Amino acid sequence: MIRILCTIFAGLLGLAFGSFLNVCLSRWPESESIVQPRSHCRHCTHTLAWWENIPLLSWLALRGRCRNCRACIGWRYPLVELAVAVLWAIPVWKLMPELVDANLPLALIYFELARTACVLIFLWGLVAMAMLDAENLWLPDWITLPGIALGFIVFSFSSALLPSLNGLEWVPFGFLSAALQSLLAILAAVALILFIRWIYWLIRRREGIGLGDAKLMAMLAAWLGLPGALLAFALGVVLGALVAVILLLMPTAQNRSEGWAASKLPLGTFLCIGGIVSSLWGQPILAAYLRWTGL
Ligand SMILES: [Zn+2]
Repeated sequence: MIRILCTIFAGLLGLAFGSFLNVCLSRWPESESIVQPRSHCRHCTHTLAWWENIPLLSWLALRGRCRNCRACIGWRYPLVELAVAVLWAIPVWKLMPELVDANLPLALIYFELARTACVLIFLWGLVAMAMLDAENLWLPDWITLPGIALGFIVFSFSSALLPSLNGLEWVPFGFLSAALQSLLAILAAVALILFIRWIYWLIRRREGIGLGDAKLMAMLAAWLGLPGALLAFALGVVLGALVAVILLLMPTAQNRSEGWAASKLPLGTFLCIGGIVSSLWGQPILAAYLRWTGL
């Protein structure tokens, strides 16, 4: 019962933070303040009443249109709110059975709570960057760079502290070796992207993958470790290729094939989606893959 209540609470909190993210996504690219002025229609600047500002419900009640000027309120609003809500509910749902175990040391409970809170921030950042790259082809440094640092700290502390918190033996230099392992994973992920970028440049003499994507891969490696980051990359590339094929088969693409060759797909968006899948289900996917290849 407590598991269901906590999951619902996490989902509702996710809706609120998804709604806040929508404000950020509209205002960051325009370099506007995210605090002032209050939420308003982007077309007619009509300030929203409290009941026009409820996540999901308001969008449904208003049927996706501004009450004042009838301008369309994009799909992005309910989509982002729903995405953050679901992505915040899942880790809490998975964490709860562990936490209600009465034999668990208190220190471990606090540690797991803190770690889960960090993971929720990570997932929020991935949704933010997926949308920013899709809408503006922009992966801001001030999300990726702190994201790398936070992931590095969380990963290193988890690897070093969890064995002793679980009552196992204290590993000497555990933190140092975990930090070194994390650092190597980050460097390897960056090297992979830079290598692909270089190959692409050799063939096409044009920038194919941005440096923002390299920093995003570094962030994924910091949070998920190298196998998790590689899984995210593979998922992202497959998804991107699928979308490219679908776009290419659409009749409108045939007429503007010139423009198509030069147009850019938001690789960062696909990497973020891959990162989300890898973060939530990476271990079972990797285990299934290893079983399948017989390694
Ligand atoms: Zn309006």
